[in-house]
Amino acid sequence: MNFLPIFINVKDQPCLVVGGGEVAARKVELLLKGGARVVVVAPELGAALTARRQAGEIGHRAEAFLPAQVQAHRLVIAATDDEGVNRAVAEAAQARNIPVNVVDRPELCTFIMPAVIDRSPVVIAVSSGGASPVLARLIRARIESLIPAAYGRLAKLVGEFRARVKQRFGHINQRRAFWEEVLQGPIAEMMFSGREQAARAALTARLDTIADRGSEVGEVYLVGGGPGDPDLLTFRALRLMQQADVVVYDRLVSKEVLDLVRRDAVKMYVGKERDFHSVPQEGINQLLVRLAKEGKRVLRLKGGDPFIFGRGGEEIETLAAEGIPFQVVPGITAAAGCASYSGIPLTHRDYSQAVVFVTGHLKDGTVNLNWPALAQPNQTVVFYMGLHGVPDICHGLTSHGLPASTPVALIQQGTTANQRVFAGTLETLPEIVKREQVKAPTLIIVGEVVRLREKLSWFVPAGSNPD
Ligand code: SAH
Repeated sequence: MNFLPIFINVKDQPCLVVGGGEVAARKVELLLKGGARVVVVAPELGAALTARRQAGEIGHRAEAFLPAQVQAHRLVIAATDDEGVNRAVAEAAQARNIPVNVVDRPELCTFIMPAVIDRSPVVIAVSSGGASPVLARLIRARIESLIPAAYGRLAKLVGEFRARVKQRFGHINQRRAFWEEVLQGPIAEMMFSGREQAARAALTARLDTIADRGSEVGEVYLVGGGPGDPDLLTFRALRLMQQADVVVYDRLVSKEVLDLVRRDAVKMYVGKERDFHSVPQEGINQLLVRLAKEGKRVLRLKGGDPFIFGRGGEEIETLAAEGIPFQVVPGITAAAGCASYSGIPLTHRDYSQAVVFVTGHLKDGTVNLNWPALAQPNQTVVFYMGLHGVPDICHGLTSHGLPASTPVALIQQGTTANQRVFAGTLETLPEIVKREQVKAPTLIIVGEVVRLREKLSWFVPAGSNPD
């Protein structure tokens, strides 16, 4: 973040705008909306500001800018077309530690003004950090069309009831759950369709009848976070990530995905690295039970899909045994994500009529698989957790009948900005892994379909070196 977004209270505060033209007028309009007392310094005013002066909405000093004028102002904005004046305003304000904005000159600003979507009291501010005000405005236009105007009225209704709800529910989690129910249900719909009185009555009734949630158990959401690229999350995953009280996540969940979790949710890392289990599986199972019994909404966030080599089954077995409500949200599994992002279709009518997902790492650390079943023609085999077993895997497949020339791809950190793809054969892969210092997580795809990559590769990871 180049700038920290904050909202400033300028109600009845003196704010100075230097410049009398149209750009200045737009800034003045925003300041007035915020309730500021605005003084404009400019030898002459354009039409818009002249009208405001005549209406008594602003003060005007018809003179050239002097540094001392910034004194005692809460904010200063420079909006002249004179580079020298703008710079002088910035210097004068900065010398006195007064926040200053110079229109279209982010490097002279100590604050910047976002594009605003006003659904007062809800205000959404969009900024590109000065990089592209046009982009920020386009984003604003999209958000404008997404957020019904009635959101402002809805927020006012919440404001009216806030104190009563606070009194009714002692704990912040209970209050949050109550408001989430109200804001996503029929009461919100009543507001949106203009039936304000009905909404008010329904809200009052709901407050009177709702059972005290204090003793209720929470819920566990077992959610697949996909292979890394946050764009691959499902809508449901995102919604639950936004409403969880606690997040229990492990190593495979990418930072970008984790960033989308509700900001004030408690985040608990439970590790799971090869040969190093930060919290043993049984401990995780019990942790989920304990948190849910405390009434929390627990997001158990896993890489990929929770039911594919994710131990999701084990975790919800414990929940089911304890009678704790849960739901499972599928995610894009590494095989699907890595295959797409490396241009390797897992099946193809000409090359492969079946695909097998198999783990290359057993509980006791050995690779002991049904080799004859895996070493079949016209079949794609995908190995999860196979990095350390690469020599065993290649040997197992060739010694059970697959040609040493069978194409293989190894995908490291698939779908992320750091994705790397190494293509070889069953013969060459062990050497490639050694040479390239490949790191987990990696996925291995074995089969003729790997050849298609030459034609179908499309994804260029942002972190790749063009050389
Ligand atoms: N539940 C997960 C798999 C967990 S097992 C899923 O459905 O994807 C962990 C293994 O998944 C890793 O050892 C690796 O083989 C694979 N994996 C997960 N994310 C990956 C990624 N972004 N790139 C490559 N392999 C990945």
